[in-house]
Amino acid sequence: MITIYSEDHRLHHGQYELIAGGFVPPFENPTRLDIIISRLKEKNFGEIKPPNEYGLDPILRVHTEDFINFLRTAYDEWYELHGGEKDAMPITWPTRHLRQVVPKGINGKLGYYSFDAATPITSTTWQAITSAVNVALTGVDLIKEGQRAVFSLCRPPGHHAAKDLYAGYCFFNNAAIATQAFIDKGAERVAILDIDYHHGNGTQAIFYDRSDVLFVSLHGDPDQEYPYFLGYKEEIGTGKGEGFNKNFPMPWGTLWPVYKDALDQGIDSIQNFKPDALVVSTGVDTFEKDPISKFKLKSENYLEMGNMIESLSLPTLFVMEGGYAVDEIGINTVNLLSGFEEA
Ligand SMILES: [Zn+2]
Repeated sequence: MITIYSEDHRLHHGQYELIAGGFVPPFENPTRLDIIISRLKEKNFGEIKPPNEYGLDPILRVHTEDFINFLRTAYDEWYELHGGEKDAMPITWPTRHLRQVVPKGINGKLGYYSFDAATPITSTTWQAITSAVNVALTGVDLIKEGQRAVFSLCRPPGHHAAKDLYAGYCFFNNAAIATQAFIDKGAERVAILDIDYHHGNGTQAIFYDRSDVLFVSLHGDPDQEYPYFLGYKEEIGTGKGEGFNKNFPMPWGTLWPVYKDALDQGIDSIQNFKPDALVVSTGVDTFEKDPISKFKLKSENYLEMGNMIESLSLPTLFVMEGGYAVDEIGINTVNLLSGFEEA
């Protein structure tokens, strides 16, 4: 399987995130991809290629122009106000009983366009997030050219980002942009299988009223787990999209047999949808030793997971999302891809 990868991911490396009442160095950091790349090489998994350039047009198909412009200039505006010692971070959000206005000042804009304080913007975040989109889109083109499966090793991840909202380490929704690109290049239906530990709230929101994209997500129950305010079972889509959104929330401590049963059901619904392509939002933070997650999957479970996904016999684009147990992130990611390839 070909992997698409760009060194530009390093240009996003925040100083802090807010978690459990304290500011700590971000769990989402460049070392994650170093470990995956070294495991891919160790296993001779296949060619590693740089991305092509696609510009902003494919991003505009999913995100709003004002949001894109905000991300492009956010750090410069922050620097002008606060100087350059700290990354740009919001402290106030337009929740209930406040207005959804876009303030002119950067502090207000950061709150308007985000929903957490885990997602710093640095002086070079823009270059990293546009490069991650190119990594995803290059995978789409290789599949259009006839590859059965491609691994787009994106960083930062994307599935928490909605059309005009960033958070959860995510800025542009790489998987959603790739999905839309498949459709713009002729696919009638595309399924997204989100196996990251956290609910893909951004992806769900982007496609919630659409019947040409089926979104299936397996994740920690939002009653207990981030992002808390989306990802419940009763969210099934709206309007034309009703029936095309399927959430499988599971409790803390979930083991492989329960997870496997949910994955079986998700795979069945993808099969019934008869998509032209599958995008897998690939997170391995379901692993038992993940420092911020609470499922209990083991490394060998990812082999079986890849095997099960392959049984759909679909052109498949794996788009990297989360996974923070840095020592094992390479083993688990490559196990997933090997399970697919060796099925
Ligand atoms: Zn996650």
